[in-house]
Amino acid sequence: MSLSARTGRAAVMTAANKDLEIWEYPLPEVLPGCMLVRITCCTICGSDLHTWTGRRKSPVPIILGHEIVGHIVELGAGVTMDSGNNPLRVGDRITWTIMDNCGKCYFCREKGLMMKCSHLKKYGHDSCADEPHFVGGFAEYCYITPGTCVIRVPEELTDEEAAPANCALATVVAGGDAIAIRPFENVLIQGAGALGVYAAALAKYYGCRRIIVADVMEHRLEFVKKFGATDTINSKGRSDDEVIGMVKDLTCGFGADVVMELAGFPPLLPLGLKCLRTGGRLVEIGNAFAGALFTCDASDIVFKCLTIKGVHNYDTVHLQKAIDFLQMTRNRFPFGLIVGERVSLDEINTGLKIAESGRTIRVAVKP
Ligand SMILES: [Zn+2]
Ligand SMILES: [Zn+2]
Repeated sequence: MSLSARTGRAAVMTAANKDLEIWEYPLPEVLPGCMLVRITCCTICGSDLHTWTGRRKSPVPIILGHEIVGHIVELGAGVTMDSGNNPLRVGDRITWTIMDNCGKCYFCREKGLMMKCSHLKKYGHDSCADEPHFVGGFAEYCYITPGTCVIRVPEELTDEEAAPANCALATVVAGGDAIAIRPFENVLIQGAGALGVYAAALAKYYGCRRIIVADVMEHRLEFVKKFGATDTINSKGRSDDEVIGMVKDLTCGFGADVVMELAGFPPLLPLGLKCLRTGGRLVEIGNAFAGALFTCDASDIVFKCLTIKGVHNYDTVHLQKAIDFLQMTRNRFPFGLIVGERVSLDEINTGLKIAESGRTIRVAVKP
């Protein structure tokens, strides 16, 4: 790959609710510990859509996109291994954590919460106004900084199978860890988008018994059956009591051991609590935007001795687990089908509209 041009193209958002524009930036000088990557695939995540539509505030100008796969075109001095201790060379295909964390602050060192690092940088979330500019996925290049956990993508995985790992799948793996999903448990998954599809597959892999997925879109409920869902509930037009009754009917009258809220609709949290058995655990992941208010009877939590965990993004270990999971189960689950449509960088605005319509789980941008 020639870098003689020394510039690269990027789709830049200058304001919410406005078409992205293709800008050209000079390629950065690759400093020690850093890498320059030629992006081959970036999938559009729900949070990109939250930012694009203005539901979530962000700095501008910005290059959105964080579910990224690409090939190394330049390695900075001192970079020799990926985070799994595999040697890294120019040309290798890699993915990397959504965040760059310092490893030295209170949260990184003392509390094991690197996603809450005091000096956190997130790909596809920060302004691209200053050098190195290439800090998001809807672009030809990405500049990787030293606090990023980089993973060489196993050869057998396609770009499209690997790309959503660094947000959707790694987050679901973190959620499963947070509430310690165990074999033979009954799980209720709220939401059959990318997170729900991965959660069903992971629950199946963990040996769960009933894997119940609820959503309001029938085509998504059909789709998630390919990923281990044993039962589906179309909650459109159904009362909470009906949904609770259906979950109880499927779980010997007790309710689910575990609920994963992955849809990002606030009233699902109190509904999820009502679907839990006594002693059950709920992990809240979906409502990742401010103002997600809900009403809840606190006695549900007390009388039923419930556990609620919040999970935002993930620790560095979860991305390696996500890639390992894909590699180990790619013959069992059709992960390639999660990407239903593809666009070029120039067609990015079409791609965002398709993603917003919900007609496919993921749209891939191929710069
Ligand atoms: Zn994401
Ligand atoms: Zn830190």
